[in-house]
Amino acid sequence: MTEQSLAINRSRPIRRPIRRLLQIRKSNLVVAYLVILLVPYLATLSLNIDYKGLYSAALGFLNTVAMMAFFIQFPLAGRLKYLPMFSNIDWSMSRHKKVGKWLGFFFLLHPLLILTPRFLVSFDDGMTSVVEAITSPQLLTGIIAWLVMILWVVLAIFKDRLRINYETWHLTHLLGFVIVCVLATLHITSVGRHGQFEAQFNILWWGLCAMSVGLVLYNQLVKKTILKQKPFTLASITRGSSRDWLVTLRNDSSHDFSFEAGQFIWINTSGSVYSMNEHPFSIASCSKQLPEIAMIIRELGDYTSQLDTLTIGQQVYVDGPYGSMSLRDSETARGITLIAGGAGMGPMLSLLRELAANHDPRPIRLLYGNNDYEQMVLQEEIQALQKTMPDFTQQLVCDKPTDIPGVHQGVIVNDYIAETIDPELANVWAVYLCGPQAMIESLKASLRSLGIPEANVHYEEISF
Ligand SMILES: Cc1cc2nc3c(=O)[nH]c(=O)nc-3n(C[C@H](O)[C@H](O)[C@H](O)COP(=O)(O)OP(=O)(O)OC[C@H]3O[C@@H](n4cnc5c(N)ncnc54)[C@H](O)[C@@H]3O)c2cc1C
Repeated sequence: MTEQSLAINRSRPIRRPIRRLLQIRKSNLVVAYLVILLVPYLATLSLNIDYKGLYSAALGFLNTVAMMAFFIQFPLAGRLKYLPMFSNIDWSMSRHKKVGKWLGFFFLLHPLLILTPRFLVSFDDGMTSVVEAITSPQLLTGIIAWLVMILWVVLAIFKDRLRINYETWHLTHLLGFVIVCVLATLHITSVGRHGQFEAQFNILWWGLCAMSVGLVLYNQLVKKTILKQKPFTLASITRGSSRDWLVTLRNDSSHDFSFEAGQFIWINTSGSVYSMNEHPFSIASCSKQLPEIAMIIRELGDYTSQLDTLTIGQQVYVDGPYGSMSLRDSETARGITLIAGGAGMGPMLSLLRELAANHDPRPIRLLYGNNDYEQMVLQEEIQALQKTMPDFTQQLVCDKPTDIPGVHQGVIVNDYIAETIDPELANVWAVYLCGPQAMIESLKASLRSLGIPEANVHYEEISF
């Protein structure tokens, strides 16, 4: 065994093989997701439903798949740590958002798709069907579910532009979709083809509905009651830069807490474990610093701007760790580049501290971008690491001009990344990225053009 692999193995938690078994590779997640979507439709094939033509059969297929996709939205956003497909929170949250938009669009079309053939027969026929649908007591649950669904998807898409408080939005988002879930299930089991005629499909749809509502109740009540038994303590809060706080929590409970460098947690400092006021932040410390965990928190809105009003020693509820970024993914890489944009420095620092604690002998490069030099955090510690780590250098990039020597001006671009990577080794080099969504998207394309395989690029967006 080489010195390098020995160093990495020393830090490997015992539970890792179990977690590895439970995790599905990202490339297989989409396939697993699509297979799950098809389950209810495949079950309907045993029924020999008389669809009255191809159009009606296609609509039956789309409705069944869309309804399943709707139910799967709950586990996708359900912070499920141990279920293979849903434990990759980065992947599942981005799927939840994308699929949510498509579902909103599809359900908007749902009544139009049903009524269009009747309009094609004659306009009068179509209008009669519209009036019948609107006035039918049997369709009332479906109509309310449809209206709430469309409105709530629009709210979710425009929540930032509408400047709705995040906690208010989150609470109404949950309640709204629980209502849609129950009413839509009533609708499909009373008028839908696959529920109306077959009792086992009523059981299937109600089972999925119970799972979805149960998951919301579990997350909001059961899980929070468990978290109440193992609070952390706010150990310190200091200024890290002109826009960032350095926050340290300590696990004073007898409950075990472990994490991998690169992961994140939800913290709740409100004093009530049942409050919706919880925020996700990446852990910036490494596992050797436990029982303390540190975070770098950028002032952005009402919560992050008032962190100095918290009391040292107060209880903080911690849900996590979550996230799939891990040094396990680069065990065989010949070198590592860490790229941090603004508040994305937290997980990059965690990885860097872990690599330093492991005395990792590989070349490690850090590219750290911010608007101005005053926003760079922990420069003393990072400069000290440049002297003590076997092969580590940092390159700072500032949007605004600065007198500090060696700092690149602008944003992180291809040329700056290329400087950190030996071109001969590009295909065996690993890159970790964290920052705003726009930065991640543009850098992913840059990394491809530099010859770094997609499988070697690991990233975390600091937004859901
Ligand atoms: C996986 C992940 C890791 C993150 N890591 C860090 C980090 O290490 N350091 C850091 O400074 N920031 C991090 N963030 C961002 C941080 O969560 C938000 O900046 C913070 O919650 C903003 O709260 P606010 O009330 O001050 O601002 P607001 O103005 O209320 O919110 C600004 C934006 O932050 C998002 N946001 C707000 N509240 C929440 C919430 N409860 N849950 C999810 N998103 C929310 C919303 O998109 C909102 O539009 C991370 C976000 C995610 C998703």
